[in-house]
This record gives sequence, structure tokens and C-alpha cells, in this order.
Amino acid sequence: MLIANRGEIACRVIATARAMGLRTIAVFSEADAEARHVALADMAVPIGQAAAAESYLRIDKIVEAALETGAEAIHPGYGFLSENPDFVDAVEAAGLIFVGPSADAIRAMGLKDAAKALMEKAGVPVVPGYHGDDQSDARLAEEADRIGYPVLIKAVGGGGGKGMRAVEAPGGFASALASARAEAASAFGNAGVLIEKLIQTPRHIEVQVFGDGARAVHLFERDCSLQRRHQKVIEEAPAPGMTEEMRAAMGAAAVRAAEAVGYRGAGTVEFIVDGSNGLSPDRFWFMEMNTRLQVEHPVTEAITGVDLVEWQLRVAMGEGLLLEQEALRITGHAVEARLYAEDAGAGFLPATGRLDRLVFPEDARIDTGVVEGDRISPHYDPMIAKIVTHGADREAALKAMDRALAGTGIAGTVTNLGFLSRLVAQPDFRAGRVDTGLIGREIEALAPDPEPSSVAVAVAAVAALDAHDGPMAGFQLWGGRRHRVLLGEREIWVTVTGDGFEVDAGGTRHRVSRDGTRWWVDGILRDLAVLAAPGEIALHGGERTRFTLADPLARAASASAAGAIEAPMPGRVTAVRTRAGDEVREGEALLTLEAMKMEHALAAPRDGVVAEVLVVEGGQVEAGAVLLRLEELPE
Ligand code: ADP
Repeated sequence: MLIANRGEIACRVIATARAMGLRTIAVFSEADAEARHVALADMAVPIGQAAAAESYLRIDKIVEAALETGAEAIHPGYGFLSENPDFVDAVEAAGLIFVGPSADAIRAMGLKDAAKALMEKAGVPVVPGYHGDDQSDARLAEEADRIGYPVLIKAVGGGGGKGMRAVEAPGGFASALASARAEAASAFGNAGVLIEKLIQTPRHIEVQVFGDGARAVHLFERDCSLQRRHQKVIEEAPAPGMTEEMRAAMGAAAVRAAEAVGYRGAGTVEFIVDGSNGLSPDRFWFMEMNTRLQVEHPVTEAITGVDLVEWQLRVAMGEGLLLEQEALRITGHAVEARLYAEDAGAGFLPATGRLDRLVFPEDARIDTGVVEGDRISPHYDPMIAKIVTHGADREAALKAMDRALAGTGIAGTVTNLGFLSRLVAQPDFRAGRVDTGLIGREIEALAPDPEPSSVAVAVAAVAALDAHDGPMAGFQLWGGRRHRVLLGEREIWVTVTGDGFEVDAGGTRHRVSRDGTRWWVDGILRDLAVLAAPGEIALHGGERTRFTLADPLARAASASAAGAIEAPMPGRVTAVRTRAGDEVREGEALLTLEAMKMEHALAAPRDGVVAEVLVVEGGQVEAGAVLLRLEELPE
């Protein structure tokens, strides 16, 4: 079987395929020649350049690779070509098995408006709204009035929250419609929109379904309400507060949805639920169906004991459904956290970098496509791993997640680990009071990393001396000497004593010693683990922080002081909002860069006059490229 994907999902599929005795074939782009999925597969075929459009999205090259290597089947993973019906057609035309639904089923669910119409016919509740062909401004505004404000405008071709606008009152409708259409046209080549009632206190609850082409069963629900920028961060199963009655109603609706399109394989029916007043079987509505394996499928596997990839492969090989509905049971509770290379404090800005050190906990399921030393490439999604825990009940699963996150350490790149730890501990989440607005409401408390304690600073300072002088060098060489250590902006003094170190961490003194990898501070064994990487000391365990030893931002800061706006990462310039000669104010958006599936506004670092704009809309830029120059305002 060839796996037409990369990263953690390619590795995940290979693991089950192997266990079932299949030989596996990886495909890889130029950026992925050394990637983990290539190392795990029995065979591997290069399919082109790093940009996905030149490799993982090339139907012709992937089918050719399959034929060349004698593959019998192709698993698409998720993302890339997984929901492209033309890919299914091409695979089947080449005489190969596509591990997934028919092209027709994918087409039927592909557009939000057509899918909603189909679901309505099948008796599945859909969000009240308008999804008709008349796209005139007047008709859409009329429909919004009929539905009743607030409303949500959605792109019919939508995905990833693009082309979506919430409108509070009629006065805002016309401008929201124009901007939703423009975004939809540029992102999906389709300016069509639909209008929905905006659900208050919405929860995202989805049902895992599995079909054999005629009949379907469901494997219960997942709650994916914790989202940032409409993208999931933490998922769990079952949903907090779910009742047997509501579960039966949602499961039956999801099965009707799957059977209405003759669904084969693993799929997910996404519902939006009004969570303003507990859960009630008359307050959930169909949003869309994802016709593939979902990123968060491991939580369903954890509570049902089913290997969903094994089911996918067995159904693709012609076996029927492996279990009847009555035989499926929920055992305990599972949680998944998505670990990303991104800066939560900077609006979830995706990061690139090298995973100089990478430590995962022993007692959690880790789905990952990287190993220590790998780079997070700017070409693909910056997910590092999925961390999955399971427990007898929700609190046990969450406690296990607390521990798993504390036991995960990364040095070399910024990650969302601190954000995830705070999110898992957030009181509303902990109590099961979730809705899709939770992260946005609590962002001030969740995003910024707190100041490190003086204990953490002291440990990091000693570790930094080690990193500088080599392990243990201090014990022989420094006798009695005082050392100055620079941790970011902090100046720390470390004195070597007979049995350890005296550290003056900004006025607070600590005695630090260590045995092996364990750290003692003021006579107490601390729950702190240290990872050292070039130019960086990262701590995890009871407290998580990172200290830079050499400041990598110095270059960018000095460049911007000199008036150059540089691309923080490779990407495409989607908007240029200023021209040479314009006066701009500090903080004003100058350009928008689309990189790693997100848009980033680049703002003026200070007041000034635009001296020159060095890029055009639509242009590709490399990291560090100068995009625009500012000069001083005239006196
Ligand atoms: P996309 O395909 O662009 O991801 P979805 O239709 O899946 O768009 O919706 C994405 C998210 O937007 C949902 O998970 C939910 O948080 C929110 N959302 C969607 N529809 C509504 C609605 N009618 N009312 C309130 N929130 C909604």
C-alpha cells in the first residue's frame, strides 16, 4: 500500500499496515527525504519539490509512483488529496484500491450548500438558514432578516474558517458579505455563500461514522470545542455533559447522513450544538461531513478499542463492517492535545526551527512524524505531535494529560506547550464548560508565558554554564570563581562552591546542585528537567520556560530599527496596504503574508514614511527577505 501523505498521519497509517502484514510505500518531497515516514516505510519514492503543489498534491506523480512500485492500494491520510474526488477517480482508473469513500460520496459532501440540501432531505437537522442559488445582494439580505440576527455568512466552498463572517445586526450585513465573498473567491475560486443562524455558546461535537458502502455504524462523539482561529487544539471523547438520549439522536443522525451517500470507510459528521443551556437532543445541527480519517481519531480509538485504520483497510479489501452498533462501547475518557511549533503569545504565529532536543512522556500515546534533530519546515503544517491520554473518567484522563504535557520537552523552537498546559488546567475547561469561544475569551490568561520563578532561573543558569563549558567541567575548573551568565535579558551570577553552586538570580540567592539529570535547589529535589540546545536552555516538568543564550531576535530587531520590514518566514504576499511616500503610524498594518496556512499582518514598528515597497501582491518571498523600507518622518 502506498501512503499519499507525510508527517504523523503517514507514520500512523504505516504502523497499522505493518501490523497487518502489508508492505508500505512512502512518497516524499525534496524537503522530506530524511523524514520519519520515509524511514518507517518499506519503500519510498521521491515525487517532487518541497511545495505541496509540486509533490503531495500531484495526482499524476503519486499514481505513477504506485504503479512503478507495484502498489495495490493507496491510503490518502488527511489533508492534501484525501477529499479530492478527482484523485479517487485517477486511483481507480489505474486499477488501484482507494482506501476511502467513493468519488461520488466525496462530491456529494464537498460543497456546504449541496451537502446541507442533501442532509435536509435525509432527515438530518441542519442549521436554520439559506443555501439557495439566488446569490443577489438583495435576496441574501432578505434571507438574513428572515433567519434573524445574529447570522453567519459562510463560503459554500469553505474550509479552515475562511470566507466566514459573523454579523450582529442588519447594518453590518452588506460590508461583511462583500468581504466574505472576496475572501472566498481568492481562497476557493468560488464566491458563493450561504447564510446561517449564528448559534450562541456553540459547541463543536462530531460523530465518527464507519460505512461499508451501504450500511453504517457510529463510534460515538468527540467534542472539539476548544478552537483558536476556528482550528481545533484539544479534543476529547466522549463529550462533557453528553446524555444517552442526545448521543443516540446524534449517532442516528450521523448514520443517516453516511447512509444517504452510500458511505464507505471512516468519516466524520460535524455538528454544531447550542450549549447555552446544557445539551438537548433538539439543539444540534449538521455542519459538514469530512470524508476521511480525522486528525483527532485517536481519542475515538482510545475509548472504543477500535483501530480505525485497520477498519479502513479491511473495508477497502472488501470485508463488511467489523462490529455491529450494539457491540460498540465507550470505555473511559480520552483527550488529545495538538502540539504545534507556534507562538501563542504572538497570535499563534507558526514557527520554524530545529527540534534540537525532543523528549516525549512514556505513558501517553504520541503520534508524531518527527524525531529529535528534525526541522519544522515552512512548507507544511507546523504540528509536531499529538499527545493522547486515556483514563477511567474525564478527570483521570486530564490528570494524565497534565503529566504528559509536563513530561514533554522541546528545545530549539517555540511551541504551544505552555499554552496547552494552561488550557488543560483552565477552570471552565476542567469543569466541562466548553464552547468554541472559550480560548478567545481567556486568551489573556492563556497565551503569555508567566515570568519564570527564581528557582527555574537558578537551575537554567547552572545548566547554561554546563552547556558553555561542557558537562561537569565546572567541578574541576571553576573552584571558587564567580561566573556571569546571560539568560536572555537577565544577568545571573553563579559561584562554584564545594558541593554545588551558589546562584544570585536577580537578588534571590539559591543553592543548586544536581545528581545526573535531577536538580536540587535549597536542599529540595525539584520537579524540573533541563534540555540544552545551541543558544538555548529549556526547562520542563513542574515549570516550563525557555531561555535564549544568544538573542536570535537581535538581527530582526536591528533590521527593523534600520527601517527594513523582513518576512519572518517564507510565504506569499497576499496584500500590500501601503505605497512609497505614504506616512504610516506605529502598529499600522503594512502587508499581509500568507504562510503555513495562516495570514499574518506585518505592522510598522514605528512611525515613518514608506521609502520603497519591494514586493507585489501574489509574490513568493523567502524568510528574511526585505519586503518594505521605512524612513524617518520629515521634521
Ligand atoms: P470550515 O469548513 O471553514 O472549517 P465549518 O462550517 O466547519 O467551517 O465551521 C467552523 C467552525 O465555525 C465551527 O467549528 C464552529 O466553531 C463555527 N461555526 C460554524 N457554523 C456556526 C454557526 N452557525 N454558529 C456559530 N458558530 C459556527
